[in-house]
Amino acid sequence: MRKVIAVDGIFLKSRYGGVLLSAIAQDAENHIFPVAFCIVDSECDASYKYFFEKMRSFVLDTPELCIISNRHPSIGKMVSVVFPSAHYGYCMRYNIMMINITELINAVLLDERKFPITALFDVINKQFAEIFHERRMIFLDIGTKFVPSMEAIIAENTELGNKLLVHQIANYRYVVTGHEAIAIVDLKSKSCSFRVFDVDKIPCPHAMAVLRCQYGEDYGRRIYEYSCLYYTVDTYIMAYVEEIKPVPSEDSWQVPIEILERKISPPFVEPSKQNAAIAMQYSTTNVLAMKNSATNVLAVKIQHLM
Ligand SMILES: [Zn+2]
Repeated sequence: MRKVIAVDGIFLKSRYGGVLLSAIAQDAENHIFPVAFCIVDSECDASYKYFFEKMRSFVLDTPELCIISNRHPSIGKMVSVVFPSAHYGYCMRYNIMMINITELINAVLLDERKFPITALFDVINKQFAEIFHERRMIFLDIGTKFVPSMEAIIAENTELGNKLLVHQIANYRYVVTGHEAIAIVDLKSKSCSFRVFDVDKIPCPHAMAVLRCQYGEDYGRRIYEYSCLYYTVDTYIMAYVEEIKPVPSEDSWQVPIEILERKISPPFVEPSKQNAAIAMQYSTTNVLAMKNSATNVLAVKIQHLM
């Protein structure tokens, strides 16, 4: 998994309000990979501190870790407290990843944002359990070393590299010319003066041309030695090997006594004409007949408030 985690908060639309905090990474196929979800009453220092502290139990605080966001000032503040070694970046620099992730989460949870908390987590759990299973199985018989999107980049860069001219200037160091630009490639340090090879960790067209010059006919196999193992099909499948288990039934929960004893008042809700109209549509009989659906959980609450 890339060590870049995007953090965002989505406002919930249920009667109890709240914000769903999410931390998401990207896999080698640029699919979103859920890291953590948490529901808090509002976005503030205390909420993000709690969220990041829970994340620390399974996300290592290292200089290679980068946490990005496009939102609240508390995110950057608490990243520096809980993940002091990690880098923090605003969305301006990483906007494509951030927009994709936020849109996807919003799309996946469009209706569920109106659900009560337990139903919302149930949906998140089921959706990602299915996605994990699909992704575990999808590349099992694919027969390539890297995932399809990376194999496509290798093919494209190989073709572009075939049009470039290469001159060796030292052991493992080459000058590559083409398209009126000159690049210097160092195979030992796996770097190119254009920096794409260094950052993406897969040979750029310049590096492809150099590999062809250095290894001759054998260079197709060598491409993988100069690429990051992160792109292999095996690594991809390993990311999804853990099953997402369903939330156990409520009677098996071990709730601390101080939580059980805490009295929580229902939220204040201003009665409105719209609520009254909705409540009228649901007689007690209807609610009992459809009591398993989340819509009716809301209906019961609306009647209770009347
Ligand atoms: Zn290059």
